[in-house]
Amino acid sequence: MLGVFTGVAACSASALMAYAVRGRSAALFAPSVYRGTAARRSVALTFDDGPSPGTEQLLDILDGHGAFATFFQCGMNVERFPQTAHAAAAAGHEIGNHAWSHPLFCRLRPAAIDFEIGRAQDAIRQATGVTPRLFRAPFGVRWFGLRRAQNKRNLMGVMWSVLGRDWRLSGEAIAARVLRKVHNGAIVCLHDGRQLHPRPDLGATLEAVRILLPALRARGFAFETVSQIVCPTTH
Ligand SMILES: [Zn+2]
Repeated sequence: MLGVFTGVAACSASALMAYAVRGRSAALFAPSVYRGTAARRSVALTFDDGPSPGTEQLLDILDGHGAFATFFQCGMNVERFPQTAHAAAAAGHEIGNHAWSHPLFCRLRPAAIDFEIGRAQDAIRQATGVTPRLFRAPFGVRWFGLRRAQNKRNLMGVMWSVLGRDWRLSGEAIAARVLRKVHNGAIVCLHDGRQLHPRPDLGATLEAVRILLPALRARGFAFETVSQIVCPTTH
């Protein structure tokens, strides 16, 4: 299998390549966690691509339910909306790094991947006062150079076990999908931005979260951050 990876210089849309860079075999490029401990009835909601103007509404919804989540922020969006980035951290949510400009890493050289992660780390630290310990690759795509860039900043790679597909489904459909797939230790991927779009419509995501928070609670789930849910001894 190794020849498949070493022989490829550019990104391919083929199913094989999708598996190679997004599937578990991508640990060749950089290790990642996909789920938390199954020992507790807990779920980690994660939101990528923010902050955006809609993030404040999401923070209000989470606050109304006393739920904590994890935000994988893009550095460029943090620089656009530093107060929103700060508000998420100040409210007690965990902040992770989602690169500077949301590129496909399989189109970048290792030095560019390193730059993307370092610049986002700096922007997040400046806006929020927090130095992220978590990293989620844009599009979930990991590539040559990512392992080193993660390691030198002590970043843990985080994927997901439940993908909400909230960029294309209705709020009700997103919620139904998540409730169908959720499990103990689930890491659920949703979005409070759309890559670098300055004013994305988060309507479907917000509606889904309004449904999901009480529905998951009713099923006995507690909400944890990613750092909490990957730790077997949090409780
Ligand atoms: Zn993303």
